[in-house]
Amino acid sequence: SCGDLRNATDGFSSSNLIGSGSFGTVFKALLPTANKVVAVKVLNLQRRGAMKSFLAECESLKDIRHRNLVKLLTACSSIDFQGNQFRALIYEFMPNGSLDMWLHPEEVEEIHRPSRTLTLLERLNISIDVASVLDYLHVRCHEPIAHCDLKPSNVLLDDDLTARVSDFGLARLLLKFDQESFLNQLSSAGVRGTIGYAAPEYGVGGQPSIHGDVYSFGVLILEMFTGKRPTNELFGGNFTLHSFTKSALPERVLDIADKSILHSGLRVGFPIAECLTLVLDVGLRCCEESPTNRLATSEAIKELISIKERFF
Ligand code: ADP
Repeated sequence: SCGDLRNATDGFSSSNLIGSGSFGTVFKALLPTANKVVAVKVLNLQRRGAMKSFLAECESLKDIRHRNLVKLLTACSSIDFQGNQFRALIYEFMPNGSLDMWLHPEEVEEIHRPSRTLTLLERLNISIDVASVLDYLHVRCHEPIAHCDLKPSNVLLDDDLTARVSDFGLARLLLKFDQESFLNQLSSAGVRGTIGYAAPEYGVGGQPSIHGDVYSFGVLILEMFTGKRPTNELFGGNFTLHSFTKSALPERVLDIADKSILHSGLRVGFPIAECLTLVLDVGLRCCEESPTNRLATSEAIKELISIKERFF
């Protein structure tokens, strides 16, 4: 309840701060009545778009359930002790933080820094998890939803490194789409961190679609296996990923790949170049310029699972 939350938030301080995002600050807290550790996103209502984002998150997450979605436990709207409006979203806590922290440990504060890097198999499993959740959102849940903000900081990792997609602040129920409000949200969100992940058609007023999510998923795969952010010169920056192409992949793959994969837990003689070429090729096909040429999520899952079965 809100009362429990207020008690729990009483103790908020920089020591239980776990991150801050576009619309709010995330704290780790204990809900005493449920004896459960939770992540509380306290919204910064001063931020333009924060209220819309709060409502989008509640609307999108209220009826959906999937093992690779972070669970929104409750949403809270109340008045704090100083009489200010207080809105918060309470999620289950993900002890392994975000995928972003694992991919770019050098940018993470020491106390939050993972103690090792992700292996090739772990990265493959995470990409299958994320593709499964997209497939669920796009075709299996009662009303199709486009996430619209898929990126490594929105992929959280459970204690066994199961991926859970979070942050539905820009998500759209596709049947109730309202283009103007989406564009407002996108600009008020300040696309910082999302440039590079958003599909090219979004930059020119395109409507949110399942194909847009597939593009972001492709970028996520490329980032996961190269270790490079999409704004890195390898990808040519904003919205273009074409400085390495499908045909150049087989020869260049070991230069392009995240070096930490090459040193992590592979058996002697593992055909790493072959495996990485296939995975990166899936990523590139998700990033096709034309939305309808992109791989369907069901195809991406099938291909990633078959790569996993073939090499592990
Ligand atoms: P953004 O707006 O940047 O996507 P969020 O506000 O959703 O980010 O979250 C900020 C950061 O807080 C995340 O990158 C993640 O590290 C952390 N975080 C968010 N939710 C949780 C959670 N449920 N469990 C653990 N950490 C979380």
